[in-house]
Amino acid sequence: MRLVLLGPPGAGKGTQAKRLEQRYGIVQIATGDMLRAEVAAGSPIGLKAKAVMEAGQLVSDAILIAMLEARIARPDCARGFILDGFPRTVKQAEALDAMLAQHRMRLDAVIELQVNDAALVERIAGRFTCKTCGEGYHDTFKPPKTAGTCDRCGGHEFTRRPDDTRETVAARLVAYHNQTAPILPYYAATGRLMSVDGMVEMDQVTTALVAILDQLPAG
Ligand code: AMP
Repeated sequence: MRLVLLGPPGAGKGTQAKRLEQRYGIVQIATGDMLRAEVAAGSPIGLKAKAVMEAGQLVSDAILIAMLEARIARPDCARGFILDGFPRTVKQAEALDAMLAQHRMRLDAVIELQVNDAALVERIAGRFTCKTCGEGYHDTFKPPKTAGTCDRCGGHEFTRRPDDTRETVAARLVAYHNQTAPILPYYAATGRLMSVDGMVEMDQVTTALVAILDQLPAG
């Protein structure tokens, strides 16, 4: 199964992708996580991407397309994948279609998580992650049961993304509306776009996604 999860930053793509990964045995490919790993490693890509990411803008299509092409060629993608954060421009969407067509593959579903802008700033500005196991938390919506201790692994160290500040979120939303939202008509034109309400409880979003994915023809 090959899926794209679309939606603005903070819509819940990462959370839902992790759940679908477990349920369907397919890999989550989060280009933001891949870029953050490059930044942490101080690689040539990381050096180019760091300032762009901190400003809430998009890293170049050329870098992202090459990165994604190499990633989906890896053996763990053979059973399928969930793209989280890619494509983010029409050029990336076109490149993805071309890449898949070369291997006689296609996307099985493109699903948009619909969320209001006002909710996004609140969601993103309060989020943090356990440094040890990666469990996601939120100051208001999902604090750890015991303050300072991860519910899942008992870890005590947490991180916040440098681009999760209110100012950078505003820039990321502008980038989404200007550069990423035009992907929606691109997929709608070929009848591939489906939408799910991303404003409801996380579990309800998962239920809606599973209802769509369980209906897809096998193969
Ligand atoms: P994310 O973790 O998906 O919110 O991505 C964090 C940041 O990484 C974005 O704000 C962009 O600067 C960069 N990024 C991630 N994926 C892409 C992409 N497909 N195209 C361009 N930039 C990206």
